[in-house]
Amino acid sequence: MPHSPSRRRTPLREFQLIEALHRRYGKTGPNVIRGIGDDAAVVTPVKNHEMVVTTDLLVEGVHFDLKTASFEDIGYKAAVANLSDIAAMGAKPNYLLVSLAIPRSQSASEMQRLYRGLMLACRPYGVELVGGDTSASRHGLFLNIVLIGSVPVGCALTRGGAQAGDLLYLTGTIGDSLAGLRVLSARHGHKQSLPPVKPSTQELTRRHLRPTPRVEMGQALSRQRLATAAIDVSDGLSGDVRHICTQSRVGVEIEVDALPISAALRKFAGMNKQDPIDVALQGGEDYELLFTVAPRSCKKVEQLGRKVDCLVSCIGIIKPVSYGLRIKDQSGVLHPLPMLSYQHFSAAHNLHREKSWSR
Ligand code: ADP
Ligand code: MG
Repeated sequence: MPHSPSRRRTPLREFQLIEALHRRYGKTGPNVIRGIGDDAAVVTPVKNHEMVVTTDLLVEGVHFDLKTASFEDIGYKAAVANLSDIAAMGAKPNYLLVSLAIPRSQSASEMQRLYRGLMLACRPYGVELVGGDTSASRHGLFLNIVLIGSVPVGCALTRGGAQAGDLLYLTGTIGDSLAGLRVLSARHGHKQSLPPVKPSTQELTRRHLRPTPRVEMGQALSRQRLATAAIDVSDGLSGDVRHICTQSRVGVEIEVDALPISAALRKFAGMNKQDPIDVALQGGEDYELLFTVAPRSCKKVEQLGRKVDCLVSCIGIIKPVSYGLRIKDQSGVLHPLPMLSYQHFSAAHNLHREKSWSR
């Protein structure tokens, strides 16, 4: 792109950053023909695979807050958001491109810390940094990631394959990340937050700042053709299950008693007079996989969970579209599933709650 005046102000810094990145992450494997340093990257496609591409834009003040997250944390989580999207497609992540718009107040070492977090999250999967773009910013830090993955031809998991009678599964536990965010906000004295929380909340803040993408699980589900549909829980279960229902043209019945809620979340909710079910339903950024399974494959899915050491819970059943989206409470009473997920463009520009599901 031609350099506009605002970009011309930081040519040396931009050059130094790219040089440093090249030195540190430029040694790539044989599949990267040209990486950082050329006009574009050249990579070898994986034989008999389809390419899976995802991108995410993270904006300071909207997706992260420099008061509650370190640069490593921001990089780490940005990578996880994309790794999780690739995992939800049942694919393997391969190549990473990172674009930054950096305010003048930020130093090169802070940006290097951000990359350290990014690459730390990517390392277990052998993802290689092959390029990006760098600009100055007049209003906060912007971070865009492109992650390229691969999946055997015809094996990609989509949101559109669920059928009535399939069972609905979830990996891990949900709501921890939102609880972690509330702990961090309270700790930093934000308005509209809770009073400071004392006990062992480290597990929750860790789930918020350093979530784990379910890459092995996603790949195994697609390779063994165990899931009929999948999505990652990034906006909250209550909202994300809707995407499967819309795209598969089905309904769903979720069982409150079956929701996997961690002991840490129960403790946090108890101490703060919150309903852990509410937190679990609305909490986003857990990066767990929500997927549907034909009844004949359920045993295999549970075996797989044990094999890869990943908790899997059956939380409901897919219904015909006419059934709608419902949730069964502890006494067996059915309610319409409330919309409780994070919506960027809601009036409050914050956690958008229509009403608590249980009231
Ligand atoms: P161009 O002017 O063609 O956009 P740049 O000078 O921006 O080229 O980039 C030079 C090389 O450095 C390219 O290979 C690009 O992919 C890489 N690069 C630039 N910014 C980043 C970044 N923030 N992270 C990783 N690679 C980057
Ligand atoms: Mg550029």
